[in-house]
Amino acid sequence: MSAKEQYDELTQRTREVALLGSTSAVLHWDQETYMPPEGNELRSEQLSMLAGMAHDKFTDKRIGDLIAGLESSDLVKDPLSPEAVNIRELRHQYDKETKLPKSLVEEMTRTTSRAQKEWVQARKDSDFKRFQPWLEKVLELKRQQAEAYGYEGEPYNALLDDYEPGATVDDIEKVFANLRDELVDLLDKIKGAPKQPDVSIVEREYDVDKQKIFGEMVASAMGFNFKAGRLDITTHPFCTGIGYGDTRILTRYNPKRLNDALFGTMHEAGHGLYESGLPKTDHFGTPMGESVSLGIHESQSRMWENQVGRSKPFWQHFFPILQNLFKESLHGVKLDDFYAAINNVAPSYIRVEADECTYNLHILLRFELERALLRGDLKPADVPDEWNSRFEKYLGIKVDKDSNGCLQDVHWSFGLVGYFPTYTLGNIYSAQFFNQAKKELPDLEQQFERGELVNLRHWLKEKIHSQGQRFRATDLVEEVTGSPLDHRPTIDYMKAKYGEIYGF
Ligand code: ZN
Repeated sequence: MSAKEQYDELTQRTREVALLGSTSAVLHWDQETYMPPEGNELRSEQLSMLAGMAHDKFTDKRIGDLIAGLESSDLVKDPLSPEAVNIRELRHQYDKETKLPKSLVEEMTRTTSRAQKEWVQARKDSDFKRFQPWLEKVLELKRQQAEAYGYEGEPYNALLDDYEPGATVDDIEKVFANLRDELVDLLDKIKGAPKQPDVSIVEREYDVDKQKIFGEMVASAMGFNFKAGRLDITTHPFCTGIGYGDTRILTRYNPKRLNDALFGTMHEAGHGLYESGLPKTDHFGTPMGESVSLGIHESQSRMWENQVGRSKPFWQHFFPILQNLFKESLHGVKLDDFYAAINNVAPSYIRVEADECTYNLHILLRFELERALLRGDLKPADVPDEWNSRFEKYLGIKVDKDSNGCLQDVHWSFGLVGYFPTYTLGNIYSAQFFNQAKKELPDLEQQFERGELVNLRHWLKEKIHSQGQRFRATDLVEEVTGSPLDHRPTIDYMKAKYGEIYGF
């Protein structure tokens, strides 16, 4: 068999795995939107069967043999060619999927399914002691998982790699610590500032149908193609890239708060543009047609949500339209006051409700704790105390109960350890990418003032989306911006924005 024939067989096989994955994605989308509640049990059975089939297909020994054969072929000569990239990344995925013993996977499924139930009850009763033994069990299994994968440095690296391939604690720790210190200072300044936004402006009556019209209009202006995508309603918003020609975003509306759907829709549409901008027509079912990492995915959504959606130039065009749509609630409201209201900073307990500035502090705290837990430097029993004392240090408020503190997130009960940092990585990357976009498209903000958003989309597509997994996240950032992961652009951006709004 020639290398070309081996490569064709390999990609034919991974394409079949991707078709199973994409079938699951449609079923999952339906589960979160239109499926009747009593269909849940059958749907779980369908999804778990498909996941099993995909796993068996992908871990077939034949795939391992094909990869091994191709690794010594001419196809990997140019390491950035699509063939070499696919072989490199398939090797990485294949090794990870085959290294986990079946018994460990099964035990993880059993334990996390029980842990989630216990977490729900523990959060309801704000009773950490109830969740503690389950946290201990999950952490023990995560340690075993890290050992099975193998790692350099500390076990956390092995888990982080599931979400941010190639990233290491050493790469991100210093950047995160610098960001944290600067954010704590910035927050102090904001709290003591002379001017404070009037948030009641965005907490009036906002008719849901009109919100929907506005959200669709903005998504279209961003370049989201409704002939190759949909926008639907759900409880926990997300985006799912089902495949070429089909990208779906989901949002939720609050009739008394404008921000939720407004920025939620832009956020998910940002994910959607990434999914639909990937070269899936040519590379469906191979790493060249897939996104780089959760952090890079989040950089795309956060850029549209924050750098664009919470910017003055954007609202110079869109505010009159919004005002015309909500004649009563926005009657007589000035652009500057609206702009300040959507950018209001207010430390609060709950991560998912946090503003753009304090959000990263919520994440950094979780990253520090889960890393210490995994290393054994922090005992699960001490999580509430450690959480509360750091929370007060960073955000300046005392946690009143564990349901508002260490019990608020579902992640650890799911076994998602190493996932949190990707949220902050996304924010940092987004500021770096946006800075570069402004350098290369000098009139970008004037374009926003005219409601023209598509050139940013084209730039993102060319530099990031169309690259698939050619580069790992850390290399992609260097490739696009010329500098490694750096917290500076994030801090500079926030200082400039909040300095103007809060008058310091
Ligand atoms: Zn997101």
